Amino acid sequence: MKTKYARLLKKQSLKKKWTFSTAIVIFISYTLICSVIYLALYSWLIQNEQNNAARTADDLTSFFRSQDHSFSIQDFQGNTGLFKAIVHQNQTVRIFNKDGYEVLTINNINSAAPVELSFEQLLGGTAISKETVDDEDAFVVTRLVTIGNFTGIMQLIHPLTAFQSMMKYVLTTMLIAGIGAILIAGLIGYYLANILIRPIQDLRDSMLSIQSKGFEEKINFEYDAEDEVGDLLKIYQSMMADLQNSFAKQQQFVSDASHELRTPIQAIEGHLSLIKRWGKDDPEVLKESLDTSLEEVARMKNMIEELLNLARKVDRDEEATANVANALSSVKEELQMIYPEAKIEIIESGEEVQPRVTENALAQIMRNLIENGIRYNEQSPLVRIEVNYLSESVFITVKDNGIGISQEHLPYIFDRFYRVDASRENKGGGTGLGLSITKMLANKYNIEMDVSSEIGIGTMFTLKFRV
Ligand code: ADP
Repeated sequence: MKTKYARLLKKQSLKKKWTFSTAIVIFISYTLICSVIYLALYSWLIQNEQNNAARTADDLTSFFRSQDHSFSIQDFQGNTGLFKAIVHQNQTVRIFNKDGYEVLTINNINSAAPVELSFEQLLGGTAISKETVDDEDAFVVTRLVTIGNFTGIMQLIHPLTAFQSMMKYVLTTMLIAGIGAILIAGLIGYYLANILIRPIQDLRDSMLSIQSKGFEEKINFEYDAEDEVGDLLKIYQSMMADLQNSFAKQQQFVSDASHELRTPIQAIEGHLSLIKRWGKDDPEVLKESLDTSLEEVARMKNMIEELLNLARKVDRDEEATANVANALSSVKEELQMIYPEAKIEIIESGEEVQPRVTENALAQIMRNLIENGIRYNEQSPLVRIEVNYLSESVFITVKDNGIGISQEHLPYIFDRFYRVDASRENKGGGTGLGLSITKMLANKYNIEMDVSSEIGIGTMFTLKFRV
């Protein structure tokens, strides 16, 4: 039974639980307060009624005692109007003689209650009891009374009808007010639950939409109170932002890695087909191709490392310096393998210094720029790389004779996934990521980068490295 209720309660929404418990708590408190008030009122008022009855009996007794001895019971029998000021109009007073015979009646509203006490028993004082007279509750006061020479038993019946109907009225009012209170409590509880549970519902909705649609859904809560719920929403938002961030980084890594690995894999593929075709007979080719393939694999490993660092936002290696000539010649060799028709010229001037960048990052930047110069080209590709060593810096320009980029597109070419004209891309594999990775690496190693281009003439990238 208990588990059934517990299970039923578990299934209810927070809003229902909240409304229900507010109503129950208010109902219990209200019932308790009303019961206490009702009981206190009841005992106070009934005591009052009892006192009234006793006082009338006292007043009557004093009245009789104060009368002249010459007055007899017969004098009062015909003149009960005398007692109007003493006996309340709904009280009934009867006086019985020793034989139980009724000798005086005032008001006669209720019939007589049975007199159970004898003369002797009443000598001690007054008896008050609550009894049912004419099917109604009443206080019955019994005591001895002396009128002149006559001594008899006086019975005063004080009906509780007015008192009881008043108590009934109080109870009904409390009940009606109670029902009203429960309804109002329920409504207020529902309203409060709505206000307080709204953000939790928003949170649930947002979780549901993230679960089904992923992170594209924007998290937006209107709740700005600085309470526990507000804290919860803030924690959730920042957790989601972290998650979204690492999710985005992860995706960025995957797309960057696949973009960047394409070239070395193509190069290895080329060497492997060389080995397959000539390597068996020519140990010279076999050795060279195996060596370059191994170098490519090593470079690929480093490149992945660099991309992972970019995704993880690892600080740059301040100590790292690169041998520009080495990096350029291995990139050139790799690209010539894939684009044998392309001409790649490297011209160096000045006294060689090593710029502050890892050789991997430098090679990666150069590879992207040179490869773009070859790919976005409609004539026989020529890419000229000029390296100018200065004492404080190293300038590298990469100039091609390609199709060029129009001024309107130029500001956007470093954006992720931005491609000037995807339909013109005929070599395949363009993803719009190469320059954004180049830009990220340039930012990381404080490399200043500039680009100028003219349609039909070519494009030139200028890079300034710190030494
Ligand atoms: P992708 O992977 O498509 O090459 P990039 O970020 O490297 O992406 O380049 C973005 C776009 O800029 C390219 O799609 C291309 O249209 C244009 N672009 C980049 N380099 C050159 C260049 N040297 N000559 C002409 N257009 C270029």
